[in-house]
Amino acid sequence: MKREHVIKPVLNHHYPTIAYGKGVFLYDDQGKAYIDGCSGAVTAGIGHGVPDIVDAMLEQANKVSFVYRSQFTSEPGEKLAEKLSDLAPGNDYWSFFVNSGSEATETAMKIAIQHWQEQGRHGKNKVISRRMSYHGITLGALSMSGHVLRRRRFIPLLEDFPVVATPYCYRCPLGKTSPNCQLACADDLATAIKRIGSEHIAAFIAEPIIGAAGGAIVPPNGYFQRIKAICEQNEILFIADEVMTGIARTGAMFAMEHYGVEPDLIALGKGMSAGYTPIAATLVKDRVMEPILKGSKSIMSGHTYSANPQSAAVSLAVLSYIEKHQLVSAAESKGQYLMGQLQQMADGILSIGDVRGQGMLLAIEFVADQTTKRPFPFGLGVTSRIIERAFQKGLLVYPAAGAVDGEGDAIIIAPPLVITEEEIDQLVGILEASIQEVIAEITPSRLE
Ligand code: PMP
Repeated sequence: MKREHVIKPVLNHHYPTIAYGKGVFLYDDQGKAYIDGCSGAVTAGIGHGVPDIVDAMLEQANKVSFVYRSQFTSEPGEKLAEKLSDLAPGNDYWSFFVNSGSEATETAMKIAIQHWQEQGRHGKNKVISRRMSYHGITLGALSMSGHVLRRRRFIPLLEDFPVVATPYCYRCPLGKTSPNCQLACADDLATAIKRIGSEHIAAFIAEPIIGAAGGAIVPPNGYFQRIKAICEQNEILFIADEVMTGIARTGAMFAMEHYGVEPDLIALGKGMSAGYTPIAATLVKDRVMEPILKGSKSIMSGHTYSANPQSAAVSLAVLSYIEKHQLVSAAESKGQYLMGQLQQMADGILSIGDVRGQGMLLAIEFVADQTTKRPFPFGLGVTSRIIERAFQKGLLVYPAAGAVDGEGDAIIIAPPLVITEEEIDQLVGILEASIQEVIAEITPSRLE
């Protein structure tokens, strides 16, 4: 075989070569079609090959693609920041543009710390997160993440940031049952703050709906309202990591709208360009910027490509496509249809423990025993086998394994928001066959 040069996720694995994409389908160079059942990495929200976006790309490229942020601003950059502020909860945000979700959360962390420094509160530099969480792969973002598998190799290099209970009602870490729990998981934040001392804490970060670290885990009613109140009472900033949930995915532009909460900072990525260009953003409330504007008037962060006009123009085109085609309500209605089909499928499969999520961000958790919720032994690789089988059959789904302290099996189903009901039926048909085959292979001998 010809020697390869691209370092891929698994080096001894064969990855087909992509040829092109159209709508919810991707085609490899052998002509095989794949339904993009997870929008790549929950990214390609408007589907592939949309001509409007290509036109916007060309139009901007014909003017100028790159300028450096310390020399120029640009019309697309300014317009994008204004648009994001208009769309975000409370409508009063600045935008710091970056290139990936990891940079967006890490920048949020730095701005939160600077916000306190500008007021002479230099001790406030820890960020609290949840035990099950994923906020990115760079060392700062990983320090704020609870994702056991992704942290493992780098533990000595990570900041020792505190974690609190996950609002994971299917397996409540506090052994309680919603709604009788009185939101003990949210109060765990108050307990942690008391223990550590709010004078040491800059911010609390959370995904509105947990993605890769567990699979579309929706918090119980009232959770984020309580969290926000605890943050305010203790002078701690609240960072919403909307990298996966942001921009229409959950049936709202921002998932925080579901809870009526206005975060102090918001990290955005994936959905804001739907994969057409790498761009991400840290949104910062006016009141968080205030001490910085009065103080050093500069944020010591940024990247070469931050706010480049080419990416900003693409993101603007994606946002207007989402509005023009009403993809927020599509995410809600099609998501409900998809959820119904997945639940119906799950009724016939003993190894499915939970089907959950909101809008078009859904997940299935697999268990060895539905009653005890005992996970499959991790070594069996149930998640990767199902993903691999679906891939062979022409369907892409996304892993969220390792959620339960490095164990547990779950997949995320999050197709482009433009998917039709017919395509959803096709997706669910392939998924059901893939799950049935894999479960049949592993259960008779070992488990049930
Ligand atoms: N936060 C969340 C919630 C994510 O889902 C991800 C990506 N899966 C990230 C941060 C990191 O984004 P990126 O991969 O673009 O760095």
